[in-house]
Amino acid sequence: MAGSGNGKDRKDATRLAHTGRPTEDGPVNPPLERASTFVYANSGALYGKGRRYGRMGVSVHDALGETLSTLQHAARTLITSSGLSACVAPFRAFAQPGSHVLVTDSIYGPTRDFASRFLGGERSVEVEFYDPRIGAGIADKIRENTALIAMESPGSLTFEVQDVPAIAAAAKARGVKTMIDDTWSAGLLSKPLDLGVDMACQALTKYVSGGSDTFGGAIACADEKTAAQVEGVIRISGESVSPDAAWTCLRGARSLAARLKWHGEAGLKVAQWLEGRPEVVRLIHPALPSHPDHEIWKRDFNGAAGLFGVILRPVGDDAVNAFIDSMELFGCGFSWGGFESLAIHCDPQIHRTAVPWKAEGPLVRLQIGLEDPDDLIADLEQALQKL
Ligand SMILES: *Cc1c(COP(=O)(O)O)cnc(C)c1O
Repeated sequence: MAGSGNGKDRKDATRLAHTGRPTEDGPVNPPLERASTFVYANSGALYGKGRRYGRMGVSVHDALGETLSTLQHAARTLITSSGLSACVAPFRAFAQPGSHVLVTDSIYGPTRDFASRFLGGERSVEVEFYDPRIGAGIADKIRENTALIAMESPGSLTFEVQDVPAIAAAAKARGVKTMIDDTWSAGLLSKPLDLGVDMACQALTKYVSGGSDTFGGAIACADEKTAAQVEGVIRISGESVSPDAAWTCLRGARSLAARLKWHGEAGLKVAQWLEGRPEVVRLIHPALPSHPDHEIWKRDFNGAAGLFGVILRPVGDDAVNAFIDSMELFGCGFSWGGFESLAIHCDPQIHRTAVPWKAEGPLVRLQIGLEDPDDLIADLEQALQKL
């Protein structure tokens, strides 16, 4: 019977295929209901248990949330209109004027801007950035008024893998909430809630939807009380996700495990090839033993995504641009997690205040898509000659 394949003993790929499906005879997928308004024959029914207004979601939002909760071992998963809105929601829910928040120096740039410009500005929150590799040392930074510790692992430009259990344990000991931007793992390659984190946020825009054609965000919450608090700030500001976007993300989730396996294996193959090239100083890929946090990655992750960094030998910007521009299969584009490969020159985008970013040469970030990795390697080989 459909809907019965999501039991706790099943593997993630199975649960992704079976959770959040209609249980009655009929279509495989939940219906795409486009509705702002729900009508009832009388006001008693209107104020009853049913849905009242589409801004709060329809059946497909429930199906997506249920599927992601099953994947991430969450009490409840809230769906938001973008990854950024998911990442900032925990700050909005827990950081009050006068409180202090700790944010990893490796956090996604726009989340960093929200913290430093909005919270640190008009909201009078004290925002302190910390070394992503601080581990249990975070305990020394927690104050009486610390409200939230924000992590991102691996950092999506610089790929430091954080000691999430150590940071979560230090926070719990002092009653401080924790959130992580878990977009790289897509909720599949690691289980931050099992490691003690309160809220795992991700951009469904990336791997979960997988098609580079929609926006979506999710906040997987470890307990119902946390979920209710975050839901409060989402609701009050009119956050809303179209049924089409939720439906597209749910469709992506069905094939997430298969796609991510390909992204991970192809990415590793390309990374290993690049690691031997004379134009390259080093790779920044958590699944390579050369990565400084490789042991933590092995402990806390069950696989790799297809996004990693390459440090080139020192050359000028023109040479880096010539390299990127001469790739035929890699587009120059932000975002990642789609089926198409991408390359960006990251150096200019890294903003650090806690620990300076140090590299021997320019950093190029590659997103390995679903093309055949041998074709991507051939493309990189011809492009490296333009360096
Ligand atoms: C893309 C991204 C986001 C933001 O997602 P949007 O849907 O573009 O708002 C947040 N965190 C990380 C790590 C991302 O890569």
